[in-house]
Amino acid sequence: MTTKLTKASRLRFAPSPTGTLHVGGARTALFNWLLARGCGGKFILRIEDTDRERSTEESVQVILDAMAWLGLDHDEGPFYQSRRGEHYALALATLRESGRAYPCFCTAERLDALRKQARADGTAFVYDGLCRALGEDERASRIEKGEPHVIRFAVEPGSITEFDDMIGGPRPFENDRLGDFVIRRSDGSPIYHLTVVVDDHEMEITHVVRGDDHVSNTPRQLLLFDALGWDRPHYAHLPLIQGADKARLSKRHGATSVLEFKREGFLPEAMINFLALLGWSLDAETERLTRAELIENFSLDRINRSAAVFDKTKLEWMNGVYLRSKPLDEVTKLARDFFRLDPDDALDLISDKRLDEPWFESIVALEVERSRTLGEMRRNLDCFLVASLESYEEKGARKHLLKPGVCEQLARTAEALRAVENFEAEGLEAALRSLAEREGLSFGKVVHPLRMSLTGRSASPGIFDVLIAFGRETSLERIEQAREWIEAQPPASESPASESPRQEQAR
Ligand code: GLU
Repeated sequence: MTTKLTKASRLRFAPSPTGTLHVGGARTALFNWLLARGCGGKFILRIEDTDRERSTEESVQVILDAMAWLGLDHDEGPFYQSRRGEHYALALATLRESGRAYPCFCTAERLDALRKQARADGTAFVYDGLCRALGEDERASRIEKGEPHVIRFAVEPGSITEFDDMIGGPRPFENDRLGDFVIRRSDGSPIYHLTVVVDDHEMEITHVVRGDDHVSNTPRQLLLFDALGWDRPHYAHLPLIQGADKARLSKRHGATSVLEFKREGFLPEAMINFLALLGWSLDAETERLTRAELIENFSLDRINRSAAVFDKTKLEWMNGVYLRSKPLDEVTKLARDFFRLDPDDALDLISDKRLDEPWFESIVALEVERSRTLGEMRRNLDCFLVASLESYEEKGARKHLLKPGVCEQLARTAEALRAVENFEAEGLEAALRSLAEREGLSFGKVVHPLRMSLTGRSASPGIFDVLIAFGRETSLERIEQAREWIEAQPPASESPASESPRQEQAR
């Protein structure tokens, strides 16, 4: 078997469905998928659900959904280990018959005592092989009597297992460090090492590409391959993924579940590009690669040996690049679907209908440059989508609304806007500038309170775009609401500036 990938190569992703699909798992899936697609080989999906207590159907669904979202389609599977019990039983029987596996009757108490002793001696626990010495007759009679037992694999003392990791290079391993390890639990269920080996063999996997947290499992699995007389696949262990603080990536680093990124409004193509660069690069500069470019260029020899750093800011940046590179009508459609999807933040009906109007495209256009994700765009566009504002940004309100004279001045601004003939940028600018002049105010002093009244925030797209997006009627309504809110506020020192204008009005 050659390490080179060819049309005959078969790669797999074999997640355990015990939680969500995290960044690390998604990267493993992606790397295998890219390698398979790049060589014209096969990509197989296998669900490793032999741990019945920790595996859940929801988790299987999360994995399938996340892979579908990322566009990582498989050619075969999903195969479920929980449905393949007889294959593992056959392999166990073969190992028993050839004398490479034996029943072990040692009790939990005895094993605990051995563990304690090892700890006291400052050594790692290795099973001492007591039951290996039992005769077949004794084994048979104890099994007959129903004595609980596990099955252990008999490791040849003093032997070495060596393999050539396609990323890490030669990895020799002293088998004495393993001791005779368990391959079947006392309840009859097979242990992961055995199921992986049986499946990788029967599914004719040629290349096993997985996280480097599996490196220590590989010698055990190779021993099983050898003992069963099967060809070993080639192995590549991917470098660890760390957070920016150099600690192993975990929940502490914020959202790391792939579907959480979907919920936050990241695009799958940006996610794919970003994941591909977690430990792999085309060269020293190239950051942006399409799916097709990745398939064409991805290779094991450009995978780093050192840990990859997960940098969410970079992902956000990359997502923004992808978002801005799309035609406006496409972004509008994505935004529309995304806004409607958000279950925690249902839009009110008036706005929801408006998402289908050409108007929606015009407001998406206002924010597309400033938004890195669809979620951010949603937040930025919020003020346009609600029937009326819930609150005003506290600092902006203090600075621009709750100052003497602002309320009266907003009335005059409203008057000027009412009088504008064509509610378009040119006419609006002329009207507001001449108002500022008449009032002896800077243009900003007119615009800031207006912006706060319309959007509830001190930063927004250009004020004329905002006015046009709202239209005359809504703009005047919002100014009126802001004036009512200002009037209802207690004197400056006690002012709860962020209180809802709606609540105020309800009183
Ligand atoms: N089921 C294992 C996991 O989810 C992966 C096994 C493998 O890739 O060999 O970590």
